[in-house]
Amino acid sequence: PPEQLPLDPAKKTLVVLGSGWGSISLLKKLDTEDYNVVVISPRNFFLFTPLLPSCTTGTIEHRSIMEPLRHIIRHKKRAVKYYEAEATKIDVDRRVVKINDFSDIKGNVSETEVPFDYLVVGVGAENATFGIPGVRENACFLKEIGDAQQIRKRVMDCIETATFKDQTEEEKDRLLHMVVVGGGPTGIEFAAELQDFFEEDLRKWVPDIADRFKVTLVEALPNVLPMFSKALIEYTEKTFKDENISVRTKTMVKKVTDKNIEVEATQADGSKVKENINYGLLVWATGNAVRGVVRDLMGQLPAQKNSRRGLAVNDYLVVDGTDGIWALGDCSATKYAPTAQVASQQGNFLARLFNSMAKTQAVEEELRRLDQQLQASTDEAEKAQLTAEINAKGRSLSKVKQLSPFEYSHQGSLAYIGADRAVADLNWFGGAISSATGGELTYLFWRSAYVSMVFSLRNRILVLTDWLKTKAFGRDVSRE
Ligand code: FAD
Ligand code: NAD
Repeated sequence: PPEQLPLDPAKKTLVVLGSGWGSISLLKKLDTEDYNVVVISPRNFFLFTPLLPSCTTGTIEHRSIMEPLRHIIRHKKRAVKYYEAEATKIDVDRRVVKINDFSDIKGNVSETEVPFDYLVVGVGAENATFGIPGVRENACFLKEIGDAQQIRKRVMDCIETATFKDQTEEEKDRLLHMVVVGGGPTGIEFAAELQDFFEEDLRKWVPDIADRFKVTLVEALPNVLPMFSKALIEYTEKTFKDENISVRTKTMVKKVTDKNIEVEATQADGSKVKENINYGLLVWATGNAVRGVVRDLMGQLPAQKNSRRGLAVNDYLVVDGTDGIWALGDCSATKYAPTAQVASQQGNFLARLFNSMAKTQAVEEELRRLDQQLQASTDEAEKAQLTAEINAKGRSLSKVKQLSPFEYSHQGSLAYIGADRAVADLNWFGGAISSATGGELTYLFWRSAYVSMVFSLRNRILVLTDWLKTKAFGRDVSRE
């Protein structure tokens, strides 16, 4: 890495919360020469979430989709400070963030405050459970790298326990029943990866479970993948049927215990029937909820009174009711879906905004200096030259100040649905062509689209190597 400029007390302090899609896109494009940047996040890496479902079965190894934050900040022009901690409170009046180190190893100091001039909140969201009893205690989520590792272990644990000596038939069926709640893209992609694992590897290495292993997807609404077109929803449901994944739509989970879920299914005649479904592994993927630190911030601001899904922001992503605080990604509430695509475009936008704010300030300072020179000058030729310079600088100032509001450009939605297939709703060439496709070609497109999106060259090579390894040797069935 290159030599870096030290922090400069004359520059403004920009504190960035989070190291996800929004904050990292901002950091990558931000000219750190103009600010003292401080990043606070409990996760010292960026996680490429679109490939997280592939880590649950070992199609891709988890470290291949993690990019160390230290690699990213060490390449910036000016040094960037990083604290591995959670922001526990944003104090708007005092302009400080309270931070806590909740990691296993703590020093004498594990709680402190960080002052800011500007603050970007990119802390993402947490898993929604809708207060349904038993979910947090018994289900796995699929949001962080640890979740994928836990699922991978539990799948193999269920399998080894099902094949334990003298295991009862009923217990075998329970242990080998993998239930996924939520038919959004997370639930669909995970169910697909799991069924692939079974068909391509488990069936071969553990033949005794071949007739019993079962994946069921439970969705409260009448269909899965609501953000996709009708044709692709049908294609997905048909593909799942062919792959033997059972899809239970119009079925709402009401309660969870350690071995079963209680559901309420709506029948064709509109009547509701209660049912208990036994499971060995339960994966909960019912979308996003607002994080505590964000809820607390919203509570401090009367302007956020009516916001429910997250921080309400204006067209420039400034948090309503604040000055100098911005929010992006899943913790903000905008008209867009909470996706990586939106968060990363917002991060790029904020980088442009901060870069142009710094340029504006620099030009304004230069203008002040020229003006003072002009006032003091008595030489006509020098005065004319200074006036011309001031005019030119004034024109360039109005140009850098003209930053248009954030606008999202939707590139399309892609989801892997198993058996080498993917669905894609694409929106290209400024929306002029919108195509909805499914099938093997889409799958190839899906893979290449993701490989080209994974940020660093190092990660691209790691992901490609994992795919090749899986093709050549299959997935690893050891439980570690
Ligand atoms: P995140 O990426 O979640 O990052 C939040 C960051 O904040 C993390 O670094 C976290 O550690 C940190 N943080 C948390 N709490 C605190 C705190 N108190 N203080 C400081 N930092 C904190 N979207 C797509 O567009 N395409 C896809 O294919 C896709 N696939 C997905 C697959 C899965 C399995 C999942 C779970 C999501 C997927 N998404 C996809 C959605 C996408 O990941 C999110 O929309 C995106 O991550 C949002 O970015 P973000 O920066 O707001 O939050
Ligand atoms: P989601 O909000 O998209 O879907 C959650 C689903 O769970 C909903 O369909 C909801 O009806 C269902 N549900 C809620 N409560 C339920 C209950 N009690 N019982 C049964 N079903 C219940 O959540 P997600 O799939 O985690 O996605 C979150 C965000 O991340 C979305 O914006 C999504 O677009 C994005 N994402 C995108 C991709 C992709 O593009 N490939 C992949 C993963 C996530």
